[in-house]
Amino acid sequence: MAVNLLFSARPALWPIYQPLLSTYLGEMGIDFDLRTDFPPEEVDYVVYAPNGGLSDFTPYTRLKAVLSLWAGVESIAGNTTLTVPLARMVDHGLTQGMTEWVIGHVLRYHLGMDAHIHGLKGEWRQDVPPLASERSVAILGLGALGQASALALSALDFRVTGWSRSPKDVPGITCMHGSDGLKQVLNAAEILVLLLPSTPATENTLRAETLALLPRGARIINPGRGPLIDDAALLAALDSGQVGHATLDVFRTEPLPSDDPYWTHPNVTVTPHIASETRPVTAARVICENIRRGVQGEPFLHLVDREQGY
Ligand code: NDP
Repeated sequence: MAVNLLFSARPALWPIYQPLLSTYLGEMGIDFDLRTDFPPEEVDYVVYAPNGGLSDFTPYTRLKAVLSLWAGVESIAGNTTLTVPLARMVDHGLTQGMTEWVIGHVLRYHLGMDAHIHGLKGEWRQDVPPLASERSVAILGLGALGQASALALSALDFRVTGWSRSPKDVPGITCMHGSDGLKQVLNAAEILVLLLPSTPATENTLRAETLALLPRGARIINPGRGPLIDDAALLAALDSGQVGHATLDVFRTEPLPSDDPYWTHPNVTVTPHIASETRPVTAARVICENIRRGVQGEPFLHLVDREQGY
């Protein structure tokens, strides 16, 4: 019997994913029917993104798993109508894109590029940046994206510290966990990168109390999620000079409202949630591999721990 796959994501993605999923499933020898519309009780798998509009899984009585196209699953992890496994996206292309974005923004701060981009206004001032080996970068979150970024920065010789919920052992990275670990990580972070998921436990990880632990003038880069930061506390820390500059890609409200103070703050760079994205060519393979696993009774990859919310 054919496996019925419902594609529930932004309609513009359908013409991109439809041929990729069909080709890969065909190569795997899986008998499938892939559509954007099915009677709910006939669906085996949902290829899911929040902007597909699906939120009530109650009528999906035959569902085996929901396969997210997004790495961040905060909008579905707590959905009580979903009682089958939920897999998040771990995609090579997404990871590579994030690594490149993080490296670019870390290097901007490390090399002090702004001074020259904005111009020295006729003043021949030779501020030579330190070597990466003299610069400490901290990454909160050592998952798929945080670990790849940490390793890439370490390969450039930065002193990299990482923080996660559970203990980790990553070659070349000083790994910390727990609340004491967080204090140590923040104390040493000249440049801080947030790659945590948005969960009840990570909300306001950066707030007045934790921002105060950073070395004065530290730079913050947030490609994780908006709720990781208490915005009022960050703005106060930017105004006082405790935080030297922030590059923010994600926000509590997106698109960022036009009157938000982040847009005009002189020490904030706003990027519009473009740090990275799922890349269809590689991501479709991940989705198909999970369908194959489901069909052949093997464990799914990248399952979300619904209790932890990521
Ligand atoms: P993972 O689930 O692989 O990694 C999450 C990491 O955060 C893990 O190391 C985890 O710890 C750690 N963590 C979770 N909760 C806590 C906590 N309470 N205290 C300390 N550490 C914690 O996620 P990814 O790396 O794939 O993605 C990270 C986030 O990046 C996504 O959730 C999403 O929000 C964001 N993202 C942003 C994009 C953008 O364009 N801006 C694009 C894609 C993703 P442990 O290892 O112990 O489990």
